Amino acid sequence: MQLPLYAHWLALGFSSLGPGEVVGALYYVAKNLDRTKGFVVDQGVEGLLGPANRYQQVSLGDRDGLIKESVRILGEAVGAILAGNLGPRPERPEQTCVTCQWRGLCRSPHLH
Ligand code: SF4
Repeated sequence: MQLPLYAHWLALGFSSLGPGEVVGALYYVAKNLDRTKGFVVDQGVEGLLGPANRYQQVSLGDRDGLIKESVRILGEAVGAILAGNLGPRPERPEQTCVTCQWRGLCRSPHLH
């Protein structure tokens, strides 16, 4: 959710650049200079973002949908936190908790 949320806030103007359209959001991995994970609207922007590969490319509608869904999920999470629902509730505990490195410290009720 990180990239769509950053894209959303950048588009609204939460930076010194002011508001504007976000045409792509990619992780930049300094270790190997990789910049392939993320999304790029249609074919990118000449001189800024190269043509998107098939894993990155999204339409404007897809980008907007991704941002809208991310904002919705974030809103739900913040609402739950403000309501005091902070406990871990993994969706599939039978899968994730078995190998979780935090299992020994975790206070999730389903483990005790
Ligand atoms: S053991 Fe706890 S922290 Fe780890 S996945 Fe399960 S609920 Fe989450």
